[in-house]
Amino acid sequence: MPAHSEEQRNEYLEQAIRLAIRNVSDGGGPFGAVVVTPDGAVHEGVNRVTLDNDPTAHAEVVAIRRAAADTANFDLTGSVLYASCEPCPLCLSATLWARIGNVYYAADRHGAARAGFDDALFYEYFAGTRPELLPVEHTPLTASDSPFEAWRNYAGRVDY
Ligand SMILES: [Zn+2]
Repeated sequence: MPAHSEEQRNEYLEQAIRLAIRNVSDGGGPFGAVVVTPDGAVHEGVNRVTLDNDPTAHAEVVAIRRAAADTANFDLTGSVLYASCEPCPLCLSATLWARIGNVYYAADRHGAARAGFDDALFYEYFAGTRPELLPVEHTPLTASDSPFEAWRNYAGRVDY
């Protein structure tokens, strides 16, 4: 069973859209998001890339960071992400790492592209059709796996 009713989903999406619109006049990008944790608390995020000079400060990432900080837990299992626009690969990855279970979005990557954002292009990179955008090379060294060895041998580790 979905965590929220269709009516609730639409309300959370509308909240994300309102945040996005307000953020434009606040000097940020036109993106808003909320993470709703299992306790029903709503954690808001807006795009702060240009305000903070942080290329990773997408609305979804900001909302995830806030939800994790507010709940004092890096694992947001059972939470739902609502975004004013289709989450980009960065935000999808952050959502996976946060163990958020469901995502709903309003506008899509094509609308973002029409507004001048690169989401659609980055999707092509991850689909493997634009490898020239970012060459990534495996450069193995003798010590490559040493950090993992240290991790496995550290009794005080917090698994995640
Ligand atoms: Zn993003």
